[in-house]
Amino acid sequence: MTETDADDLAERVREGKLRLYELEDHADAETAAAARRRLLAEETGADLDAVGDYAFDADDAESNVENMVGAAQVPMGVVGPLPVDGSAAEGEHYLPLATTEGALLASVNRGASAIRTAGGATAEVLKSGMTRAPVFKVDDVREAGEVSSWARGNVDRLAEAAEATTSHGELQDVTPYVVGDSVFLRFAYDTKDAMGMNMATIATEAACEVVEAETPADLVALSGNLCNDKKPAAINAIEGRGRTVAADVLIPHEQVEAGLDTTTEAIVEANTRKNLIGSAKAGALGFNAHAANVVAATFLATGQDAAQVVEGANAMTTVDEREEGLYASVTLPSLEVGTVGGGTSLPTQSEGLEILGYGGGGDPPGSNADALAEVIAAGALAGELSLLAALSSRHLSSAHADLGR
Ligand code: NAP
Repeated sequence: MTETDADDLAERVREGKLRLYELEDHADAETAAAARRRLLAEETGADLDAVGDYAFDADDAESNVENMVGAAQVPMGVVGPLPVDGSAAEGEHYLPLATTEGALLASVNRGASAIRTAGGATAEVLKSGMTRAPVFKVDDVREAGEVSSWARGNVDRLAEAAEATTSHGELQDVTPYVVGDSVFLRFAYDTKDAMGMNMATIATEAACEVVEAETPADLVALSGNLCNDKKPAAINAIEGRGRTVAADVLIPHEQVEAGLDTTTEAIVEANTRKNLIGSAKAGALGFNAHAANVVAATFLATGQDAAQVVEGANAMTTVDEREEGLYASVTLPSLEVGTVGGGTSLPTQSEGLEILGYGGGGDPPGSNADALAEVIAAGALAGELSLLAALSSRHLSSAHADLGR
C-alpha cells in the first residue's frame, strides 16, 4: 500500500465515482481500509490511528468483514492451569479470555485454582446438533399434517440432498412443528469441528428443494426462528443447540474454606436464593451467576460468533452439600463453538485456540470442537464458583475495589 493509493481511492469516493463498499475491487484490502479511515477521519473528526494499527493481513479478514477500516482490539489474558477430564478435552489448560471487565480474570482464576486443588473438573459433551428451521406455508392444518408426516417419513431423502452440499456435515434428524398454516422443519446436523451455521444453512436449502418438489409446502423463509439463532429462546435451553455440555467438580469442605474463603453451606444458600429462586422470579432463561462472562471472553479470544453468547448464556448452575464436600456443576445446553471456519482462522484467534491445543480440525472430526466446549464449560464452572464464593462471603465489592475498579 502507498499513501497515494489510499488518497486516490478516498478522492474517488469523495467525487462520487466509487462507493465505500467497492474499494476492494480497485485495491488490496489494506489500502481500501486505509482509504476508508481517511474518509471517516475527515467526516467525523475521529482519530483512527489505533483502529488502523492491527497485526494481521487485511486480505485474511475479507471473508469476516465488509467495509473494513481496521480492528477493534480487546485485551486478552489467561487463567489456569485448569485441569479438565473430558470426553475430548484432557489435561491442564490455560484458558484465553478477552475482555474489558477488570477483575474477571482474577475471579475466574481463583475458581480455576479451587478446581485444580480439588483434582480438576469433569466435563462432557452430552449432545451435539446445529439447527436450522425453515418455515413453509400450506393451505390449512390438514395439509400441515401431511407435510409433517412426509418429513418424518423421508429423513433419508432429506439427508441425501443436505449432505451432498458438505463433506463433513451429517443430518441427524428433522422435527416438524405446526402453527395453523405454517410448518416449521427443525433440521439438526452434526457439523463436526465447525460451529456449523453456514454449513447447516446451505445444507437445509438443498433439503428444502426436495420438500417443495414432493409436498404442497411453499418455502417462506430458510430461517423461521425455531432454529433459534442469536435470540433468547426456551427451545435452545430445552432441546439444545450446538453443543450441550456440562462440567462438575467436588471440592472438599476444608478447601472451600481455604481456597474460596467461605463455606459450602453459604455457597449452597447463595446459589439457591440467587441462581434458582432469583432467576425464576425474574423469568430468566439462564439460571446462573455470570456464565456469559466466560462464554463471551472465550468467544472473543478464539474467534467464535460473538452474537451467539445469547445462547451460550443459557446455563444452569447447581451446587449441593455432600458428605465429602461441595458438589458444583454448570450445564450449558446451547454452546455454539467451532475450531474451523468463521473467525477461528484469524491470526490472534487461531493463536487463542493454539493456547488450548484445539485449533483446526480434530482427529476424529468434531473432537476439537467438543474439547473446546468442555474447556469453556469448566471455565464457566470456575467463574460460577468464584462469584458465588465472593457473594456468600460478601467480598464482591471489596474484590473489585482492591483491583481498582
Ligand atoms: P464455515 O467457515 O462457513 O464452514 C466451515 C467449513 O469448514 C466447511 O466448508 C467445511 O467443509 C470445512 N471443514 C474443514 N474441516 C472441517 C472439520 N473438521 N469439521 C467441520 N468442517 C470442516 O463455518 P460454519 O461453521 O458453517 O459457519 C460459521 C460462520 O457462519 C460464522 O462466520 C458465523 O458468523 C456465520 N453465521 C452464518 C449464519 C447463516 O445463517 N449463514 C448465521 C449465523 C452465523 P465442508 O462443509 O465441505 O465439509
